[in-house]
Amino acid sequence: MTTTPQTNATLEQIAHIILEHDSFAICGHVSPDGDCLGSQLALWHALRSLGKQATCLLVRDEPIARSLGFMPGIDQMIPASAYAGEPEVFVGVDVPSRERIGEDACAVLDGCSTSITLDHHAYDMAMCQHVYVDPDSASASMIIWELVKTLCDEPPVESALCAYTGIVTDTGGFRFQNSDESAFIVAGELVGFGVDPAFVATNVFQSRTLASVKLEAVMLDRIQLNTEHRYAISYIVEKDYEETGASKSDAEPLIDALRSICDLRVACMLREQDGVVRGSLRAKDETDVASLARELGGGGHKAAAGLTLHMTIEEAIELMHAKIAGLLG
Ligand code: 5GP
Ligand code: MN
Repeated sequence: MTTTPQTNATLEQIAHIILEHDSFAICGHVSPDGDCLGSQLALWHALRSLGKQATCLLVRDEPIARSLGFMPGIDQMIPASAYAGEPEVFVGVDVPSRERIGEDACAVLDGCSTSITLDHHAYDMAMCQHVYVDPDSASASMIIWELVKTLCDEPPVESALCAYTGIVTDTGGFRFQNSDESAFIVAGELVGFGVDPAFVATNVFQSRTLASVKLEAVMLDRIQLNTEHRYAISYIVEKDYEETGASKSDAEPLIDALRSICDLRVACMLREQDGVVRGSLRAKDETDVASLARELGGGGHKAAAGLTLHMTIEEAIELMHAKIAGLLG
């Protein structure tokens, strides 16, 4: 376990700070994934079991992926824009920067006297006062679980379920490069706390809408495969959502179909969304796609990164071909 230079507190110190306070806003990143929501909710259940006041904030008023709707407490999360509380402590989980929490959550952060970051994204700045970032941790929810065990004599089973979901989603069901010994050890421990792995897997991996699968068919038809550099790009445009009846979150699993192609080193999914293009990058070998994402204003992990491109989809496709071929060349 190696923490980043921005780390200035241990989990024990952060637990002490939490125990000294009563009210909390727990925030993740825009377009929250299973690790983000799982981290927020795992901490939320723990704080509530300690009698604390806590609210989980959504950066935007956007629907949550239905595959994650089973997590207990998810229906009580509220958009930062609708939040009128004045908590003492802001806790940012699975998120390194102000850009990733947006204006409304930044206002909440700025109104708090104490702020804490618990994350696994390496980032060159610190958004909060008290920082714990371990980029070697497969998921942020593993860090949260450690903290929950420090905070609670009897960690709630709901925290265990949400933390387990974070591990499963961020490791792609223990298939990605970050699926290390600790991920398995912590997952095993969580199963010991009563989590049912089949229940989580059924929800996370086998609860797609038909529209999402139809959207995937559209995406598969557009794959641009570069066999020389071994990467693939595909894309979705706004009208595809209308034609298939898919929602924005229905597009999330598509990158997994793209990356499943044999012999690929990098998969890139581009999605037209509200006048910009969102991109997802995945590396299947040691290629560092986060460096490419950062160069273009995004970020993430070595093997899984994302970015927003302010250009047309055609320009974005051309740019990504040039950048990925350059990276792999
Ligand atoms: P996804 O492709 O699933 O949206 O994101 C993959 C990873 O990259 C996640 O860890 C996510 O937090 C991170 N990520 C995605 N988009 C951005 C972005 O625009 N900026 C930064 N800093 N990280 C991103
Ligand atoms: Mn994460």
